[in-house]
Amino acid sequence: MKIGVLALQGAFAEHIAVLRKLGVEAVEVRLPEQLEGLDGLIIPGGESTTFTILMKAYQFADAIIRLAKNNFPIFGTCAGMIVLANGLINNGGVEPVGAMSIKVKRNAFGRQVDSFEVGLSIPALGKKPFPGVFIRAPRIESAGRNVEVLAKLDDGTIVAARQGKILVTSFHPELTDDTRLHRYFLDIVSGKQ
Ligand code: GLN
Repeated sequence: MKIGVLALQGAFAEHIAVLRKLGVEAVEVRLPEQLEGLDGLIIPGGESTTFTILMKAYQFADAIIRLAKNNFPIFGTCAGMIVLANGLINNGGVEPVGAMSIKVKRNAFGRQVDSFEVGLSIPALGKKPFPGVFIRAPRIESAGRNVEVLAKLDDGTIVAARQGKILVTSFHPELTDDTRLHRYFLDIVSGKQ
């Protein structure tokens, strides 16, 4: 199994480290042609405004839409989730590719100082709470009928979801030692989930 991590900007090295820890071949993707031959793609957290500029410059948007339409597994974390949305609040110049039926609010929890960590209940991963690390995080404001909600905060805010083979989280699983979400994504890739 070979997984690509979009390496234009942001926390790509941390995702690659988790994948390698799990014994999976992981490669940095800097050009659309490097998407060839992959079994899955991770779009990391970072700054979605910068992603928009770089994805335009390197013509990634079309390639990612094509993959999504072909039911290709994609995992977007934080800014990666923003990039995959089909609608944005606070878009700030960000142009999402619209691969998933979710409306996302950027910087939904406030500024950098309002970053937080919370134990999340994610039934699909088992009983143990998942350490949710939220850094200037977005949240899902609304989701289409074909979207499965995987995690909510106590106030009902949706922070993880799945649509077919596309998985998204508001938070940063790659910044914790808990590999269950990456393993869940790998199960999507291998068809076990
Ligand atoms: N606030 C960032 C954005 O809007 C996302 C932050 C993150 O990825 N940790 O792109």
